[in-house]
This record gives sequence, C-alpha cells and structure tokens, in this order.
Amino acid sequence: MIAKRRLPFLFFAWLVLLFSTDGLAQKQGPIETSASFQRIQRAPESVFTLFRQAGMQPVNRTLTPVQKEKVRHAFERLPPVHQRILNRHLQSISFMDNMPNTALTSLLDSDGGTNRFNITFRASLLEETISEWASGKENTCFEPTANTTYRVRVEGGNLDAIVYVLMHEATHIVDAVMNITPHPAETQSVVEPTPFTKGLWHKMNVPDDKYLDTLLEKTRFRSGKLMPIRQAPAVYQTLSKTPFPSLYAMAAWSEDIAELATIYHLTSQLNQPFYVVVTKDQVELVRFEPMKSKLVKQRFKQLMIFYTNEKSSSVR
Ligand SMILES: [Zn+2]
Repeated sequence: MIAKRRLPFLFFAWLVLLFSTDGLAQKQGPIETSASFQRIQRAPESVFTLFRQAGMQPVNRTLTPVQKEKVRHAFERLPPVHQRILNRHLQSISFMDNMPNTALTSLLDSDGGTNRFNITFRASLLEETISEWASGKENTCFEPTANTTYRVRVEGGNLDAIVYVLMHEATHIVDAVMNITPHPAETQSVVEPTPFTKGLWHKMNVPDDKYLDTLLEKTRFRSGKLMPIRQAPAVYQTLSKTPFPSLYAMAAWSEDIAELATIYHLTSQLNQPFYVVVTKDQVELVRFEPMKSKLVKQRFKQLMIFYTNEKSSSVR
C-alpha cells in the first residue's frame, strides 16, 4: 500500500505514490547510516494524522527484542537490489496499533535529489504467519457469512508475515527509485508504458482491455465492494486466465509489481508455497497457484533486475 492524499479514498490508498508537499511530505534529518532493520522510529506525524482523519486512534508500538529479531530476519531475506535501495532511501520504519491497513509506504522528502521513505506497519502483523495474514486479507474480499460451506484460504507457508509485507512495501520503494512502472501525476493519465506495464495495463489502475473482466472488476480491490463467497471459485478460475499474480495485484500497476516480485521471491528464492484454495464442504473446488501459470511465468524475466549483485547507477 502506498500513500495517497485524500482521506476518503484511504481504501484506495495504493493507487498513487504521493510526491506532493501537502499532507504527508515532511522534512527529515540526514539519511540514516545504520543498517535498514535498525531504523525503527515513531511514525512521522503526518502518518498519525492520516489515520486519525480516517477515524482510527493509531498508537506507536515499541518492539520487544524478539520482535526486533523478526524485523532483522525479514530485511535479511530481501533480494540484493532491494537491500541496496533501502539502505539509501529508507529513512525509517515504524510500528503502530490501530491502523486501518497492514502497511503504508510514504515519501518523506527528496532533499538533494534522494527520495526518502518511511514504511509504517501494523504491529500485530509481527504475530502472524504469511498463511494467516494472507488468508485474512483474501477473505476481506468476501461477505462475512456464518451460513456458508465455502472457505477461501491461502497456503503461503509459516514464515513471519513481515517477510511478505516488507518485501511488498520495499518493492514500492524500489519501483519509485527505478521507475519500473510509470509514475504519472494523475491517476487517469494515459502515459507511455514501461516494459513492465506494456500490454498489461491501460492506465495506472485500469488493466489492458484483454484482461478487463466483468467478474474481476467486481472484486474488492477493483470495486471496493464485497462479493458473496459462493462466487470465489469463478473469481479464481477467471484470475488464473490473466497474467496477474493475485486479486490485489489488479488494483494498480504499482501493486502488480509489488505482488509479482513478492510471490516470486517467496516461492522461488525462499522455497515457500503460495496458492489460494477454495473449498466447499471441505472439498477443494479451485486452486489458484499463480507461479505455475504460463502467463505469470512469462513475466519472471522482468524480475531478474532485482537479483543482480552489480552496483549500477540506477539502483544505488
Ligand atoms: Zn502495496
């Protein structure tokens, strides 16, 4: 998730990375020289304000030594290019209780031409596994009903959820620094595609015509609305015919790169499982395993830029 300026649209806050001076941007001290995992600080006041205005009562959380170890391990598991870019561009990470989402990446300032970012995480994330967290997120797409025999769950292994969420948020920073997706000022602009978005995205938050589907357009991350869980089998069957690695990846091209990079890294580099299963009466109806999809696999070559050990000027 990345910050957007207008509060009523916090739900769609992943749509635009904020590059303005109103609201979120604020002056910071010199760039941190400590290791990235050690840059834990209270969140910028602007982030507290954003969440308060969304009706929450956010509270800073001080981490225990065990929780700090989880954070360190999560940073150590990032791809080399992510580690290098965070080292240069990550101003701070923060943990909070009572925030409306899992995590938020904000641009703080760009003094001297170096953009610096904060990532704020929901602190309770530190007590969840990837499977638990991802299952919870996936189920937010469906109407909660007790009288159903359908179930949706994600098998994403038992690593700490912070591993997934840090990789996802860090990819937003890497994307902002390397311009893997275009960064137009206006959400609705039609701009020159990058190799990553070409043929897949029409606008920042509108997939290419060939992947616009009436059912997928109704899912929460595209419409903001919930759907009956009995539609889940059809949703994942339809999703499997697209090059998108998750429902959330269809929210915007910035979420697409964050999800694709994260699920690829999780499965191919960290040897974890990742699939969504829909069951009815405990019988499996549909299994959506994006990294086995031919259309998704065709995109893997674009992710190799994250695994170079060479220091090029574009990734410092
Ligand atoms: Zn995101």
